[in-house]
Amino acid sequence: MAVSADSLDTGRPRAPRRGPAPWVAMYHSVGDCSDDPYRITVTPGRLASQLAWLRRRGLRGVSVTELLAARARGEGHDLVGLTFDDGYADFVTDALPLLHRWGCGATLFVLPGRLGGDNAWDPLGPRKPLLTGDGIRRAAAEGVEIGSHGLTHVDLTKADDHTLRAEVAESRAQLEELTGAPVEGFCYPYGTIDARAVEAVREAGYTYACAIDPGPLTGPHALPRVYVGQDDTAWRLHLKHWLHRLRRRPVEGL
Ligand SMILES: [Zn+2]
Repeated sequence: MAVSADSLDTGRPRAPRRGPAPWVAMYHSVGDCSDDPYRITVTPGRLASQLAWLRRRGLRGVSVTELLAARARGEGHDLVGLTFDDGYADFVTDALPLLHRWGCGATLFVLPGRLGGDNAWDPLGPRKPLLTGDGIRRAAAEGVEIGSHGLTHVDLTKADDHTLRAEVAESRAQLEELTGAPVEGFCYPYGTIDARAVEAVREAGYTYACAIDPGPLTGPHALPRVYVGQDDTAWRLHLKHWLHRLRRRPVEGL
């Protein structure tokens, strides 16, 4: 067992480090947002100005795995996690070119049970096509981290044991087969979590999981994220960044 200099000084094991919650932004779709009842879409122009804002602040967007690895080394305070939920087809056509242009990485959370399908779980609003298996492989080949959003977009807090296991573990196995790479990250559909869902995600072998506002469950398997939408101009982003640091619980070990 490694013994730190601190524990030699005090004779007690060192308490786990607790840093401010890492800043992880949550996006969904990038495209035309004229019919967008769930406010999940930003236009390419808005995304470009948000990435420009990060650059002006000396920040850079990266995948969540890159962010957490840097934080574990005590670095990465200039990094922001960029996440895109659901795996919309417009990620490849509209988001990826902008991410490349601004030198940013990202994590894309996809639904292997709905390859080439659409957002059928949203009763209102326009149907948006989801990436096919080829589209997901293309994103991965261009350096995007692929994570799981479950199989079919189910609220895990309402799922029976069999469904919970399938959504969490089976989606990981299917994505690893699809991409030929390990899948480290999970993202809770709807951001809804409870202790049972968090445990299922940890047991399935994920290194981390993204939530939205996990409160007392905050930890590496329930990371808070900040919603970023079409209305988020520079000053609103500035405010959100500041409030996130102020209000979110610290995350142990990060
Ligand atoms: Zn989703």
